Amino acid sequence: MSIQENYNAIKSQLPQHVELVAVSKTHPVSAIQEVYDLGQRVFGENKVQELTEKYPLLPKDIQWHLIGHLQTNKVKYIAEFIDTIQSVDSEKLLREINKEAGKHQRKIKVLLQVKIAEEESKFGLEAEEAKSLYQKYLNGEFPNIFVTGLMGMATFTEDKNQIKKEFLNLKGLFDELNQLQPLETLSMGMSDDFPTAIECGATSVRVGSAIFGRRDYSK
Ligand SMILES: *Cc1c(COP(=O)(O)O)cnc(C)c1O
Repeated sequence: MSIQENYNAIKSQLPQHVELVAVSKTHPVSAIQEVYDLGQRVFGENKVQELTEKYPLLPKDIQWHLIGHLQTNKVKYIAEFIDTIQSVDSEKLLREINKEAGKHQRKIKVLLQVKIAEEESKFGLEAEEAKSLYQKYLNGEFPNIFVTGLMGMATFTEDKNQIKKEFLNLKGLFDELNQLQPLETLSMGMSDDFPTAIECGATSVRVGSAIFGRRDYSK
């Protein structure tokens, strides 16, 4: 299928209230432009270097989301233009984003990335850490940041029940934090599991290969 057919097929499966982040990592600027021309404005990249190379070549009304692990020393390269950083996995990183946003006199939206997978490899905060960071945010410790929600990645497995259990865990934490002060975004679900994520309460999904095709990491 073409990118256009893929994109339309994904869009047709998303309820109105669910935002689509088109994950364009490894794909060329021309493919991103093609999806932009179909009306998509929210794109996700996972590497700072790749994002800063693509950014100047594409329309300025794209809302860029960083979805991959971010080192504190690289925040400065994206602080001027990033819309949302979905992968906040430490207090140190949140402090750095707050500082760099301040330098540019802007506020940056962030999601707290919570570790929900059983696998050891995934980055993310423990639920308790996410709660305490949200509390600090509500106490005014990060004036140049909007914490707009939570992000999580399920275990890479075929086991739908396992995936569902992990998504529902994150939804539980989301509901809990929501009672302190409402949050907008629960980002969970990728090409293979986004329908399950939506069933479990996702308000935003991050879809790459189902739109752009398989990624070629050899280039
Ligand atoms: C690559 C990536 C995605 C998209 O994965 P697909 O399976 O291609 O849809 C979503 N979220 C994160 C954090 C990613 O790194």
